[in-house]
Amino acid sequence: MRIAIVSDVHANLAALEAVLHHAEERRALDQVWSLGDMVGYGPQPREVLARLRELDVRGVVGNHDLAAIGQLPLDDFNPDAATAARWTARQLQPSDQRFVQSLPQVRREGDFTLVHGTLRWPVWEYLYSYESARAHLQRQESPFGLVGHTHVPMLVVEDSRFPRGCELYYLQDGTTVELDRGQRLVINPGGVGQPRDGDPRASYAIYDTDAATVTLHRVEYDIAATQRLMREAGLPLWLIERLSVGR
Ligand code: ZN
Repeated sequence: MRIAIVSDVHANLAALEAVLHHAEERRALDQVWSLGDMVGYGPQPREVLARLRELDVRGVVGNHDLAAIGQLPLDDFNPDAATAARWTARQLQPSDQRFVQSLPQVRREGDFTLVHGTLRWPVWEYLYSYESARAHLQRQESPFGLVGHTHVPMLVVEDSRFPRGCELYYLQDGTTVELDRGQRLVINPGGVGQPRDGDPRASYAIYDTDAATVTLHRVEYDIAATQRLMREAGLPLWLIERLSVGR
C-alpha cells in the first residue's frame, strides 16, 4: 500500500491538487493521511475540506482548524493569521464544522502516531528543537511519528548514542527514510500549502508500507492562481507574498 502524507494544506487547493496528481502518478493514493491545518491562510477552505473528505482522509486537527470552528481563541495568533482565521470561519458551513470537529488531536495508524504539533502540546508546540523532540519521543508509544505545524520537512531520529538523545535532519526532495521498528523516529513532511523552508514548492511524503519507506517530494504548483484568489478574498498581503518565496 502507498499512502500520501500531507500537512498544512492551509486552504491552498492548487497546491493540494498538484500534490494529489503527483501521488496518483506514483499510485500512492491508497490512503491519505493529514497532519492538520487543512484550512487557515489560504483562499479555498471549503474546497480543500471537500477534496480531503472525498479521499476519506485520516486526519488530525491543527490550531488553524480549531480556530476556524471557534474552538481556539485567536489571542496567540499573529494579526495576519487572526485576520485569515476570522475570514475562514465566515466561509465554513455547518457540515464543514462538523467534519473538523470529528477529527482527533492524536491518531494512531499502524506503526505511526499522527499529531499536528507534538505529543506534549498537540496543536500548539513546534517540534523544532532537541528539547521538544525529546518531549515528543517520550510520549510516542509507536515506533514512528508524524508531525506538521512547522511547515519544514524534517526527520528526527532517536538514538541514545547522541548526547542530546536524538538527531534532527532537514529532508530534501527525493530523500527516502528507511523504517526500522527498532529505530524510533519522527517525520515532518513539510507544508503543502505554505512551505517555509525557502522552497516555494508544495511538500509532502509517500509512505510505502511494503518497502517500509517514507519519501519526501516537492511539487510545483500554480502559486499565482492561489495568490489571485487570496487577493480577491482580501486576505492579508504578507500571506499572499510569502507563497512566492516559501517563507
Ligand atoms: Zn500550519
